[in-house]
Amino acid sequence: MEPFIQTHQYNFIKEQVQYLVNGHASVNDFDVLKTLESLAIEKVTSQFDGLQEEQKEVLNGITNIQDKEDAVLFLARIKSHVIPFPDISENTIHKLFPKTKKLKTPRLENIDFKETTYLSWIDKGSSKKFIVAPHFGTLIGVKGSFTNSNQKGICTLCNGNEEVGLFVSEEKGTGNGTYVKRGSHICRNSETCNQNITNLKKMDEFLNRIK
Ligand SMILES: [Zn+2]
Repeated sequence: MEPFIQTHQYNFIKEQVQYLVNGHASVNDFDVLKTLESLAIEKVTSQFDGLQEEQKEVLNGITNIQDKEDAVLFLARIKSHVIPFPDISENTIHKLFPKTKKLKTPRLENIDFKETTYLSWIDKGSSKKFIVAPHFGTLIGVKGSFTNSNQKGICTLCNGNEEVGLFVSEEKGTGNGTYVKRGSHICRNSETCNQNITNLKKMDEFLNRIK
């Protein structure tokens, strides 16, 4: 079976799995548990369009989860069906930021691409944050200055309440060739941010605004 689960869908499933584990740990009532299970599978399948029978079967495994061990096994199985972040090399990254001199790229071998909706790193020397993400079927690169705020706030990309910083990029203005500077609060830690993303709405809005 071809991988069919996107990273953000995997995160959504993880969230539902956690609800189920919590439910089983705190509820004894058979009917209530059955309801929790049907809610979980209903919510999970609603994240997909046109699921095939064998794909449904994979997802249906969620209804058998009773404890943490079941959850770990189920999520490992689910992860084998996750579509990884598009193949990327240092060379590709350089091409995405042609105007950036002395571009430092992240250590790609340390990244779990099945848990990556967007790739991001901070160049401490220049205090710039780089973001690479698929957008309308192609990879795009975005960069901006980044200032830690040292406090929690709502992240523009994942909607989580996390330690954020101010990302300021130059964006297209309304007039021809004009640019406006615009700031967004974004998680300082992109791994945390990636874990939080359960839908692509905010991410798409952000990228649409900039590109
Ligand atoms: Zn975030």
